[in-house]
Amino acid sequence: MRSHLKVIAMMVDSHIHLHEFSAEELTSLCGKSDLIMLAVSDDYASSMKTLELRESCSNAVPAIGIHPWKVRADSWRDGFSRVQALFDRVRFLGEIGLDKRFVPQTFEVQVELFNEFLREAEKLGLGVSVHGAGAWKEVVDTLTSYRIKAVAIHWYTGPLDLIRNIIDNGYFVGINAAALIQRKHREVIKEAPLTSMLTESDGPYNYRGLRLGPSKLPDLLRLISELKGVPTSEVEETISRNFMRFLKSAGMNVNIT
Ligand SMILES: [Zn+2]
Repeated sequence: MRSHLKVIAMMVDSHIHLHEFSAEELTSLCGKSDLIMLAVSDDYASSMKTLELRESCSNAVPAIGIHPWKVRADSWRDGFSRVQALFDRVRFLGEIGLDKRFVPQTFEVQVELFNEFLREAEKLGLGVSVHGAGAWKEVVDTLTSYRIKAVAIHWYTGPLDLIRNIIDNGYFVGINAAALIQRKHREVIKEAPLTSMLTESDGPYNYRGLRLGPSKLPDLLRLISELKGVPTSEVEETISRNFMRFLKSAGMNVNIT
């Protein structure tokens, strides 16, 4: 009954810092027919690098942005203008967002910058991959004040009772491979509906000794399958379709079968 969906089933990495991988690793990831990635950036330099990767990495969709950890209180406007000059080359902005947990000292500036990005995303119909550590509610409240169709809340470890709000707004919940060892994140898997999930690695980030990357995705799919009581193949198919929906909402030309 579901066999017609098989053609689009693939591994989805909806949030990966591809620009940080070695040339050798890129060779093994790029062009893989069963893997599709959203390659996010941290600042202007990595945004440029991500855009260059597009040439050699046909299975990566580029996203450009300024990570909350890279926000500089004295020069954020300049940083924004430089990245903004590249907006016509992409359909996605990321990694953008707010972080009160690791960089609370720049929070006020982060809020200004995040709003700049979201204003442009709304105007240009771009999708966003959003970071929200320690500021989940602020991130969701800010997002809902704009009309942005393609939103993924990356590595969601916020309050479980905020998930309903996220889903009702049509946003996706980013499920990271860290769930293999992060108990709190497994609760998010149990709570969020499969139809609103996107898998991701945030690679090559190292989480408590776990080197994150697309190679962890098969184990993550198995974990989701276990926690949801749904066959792994169905998890993979549903998440593939979710990702295609996500791309399409940002104006990309994709077929959903
Ligand atoms: Zn990230």
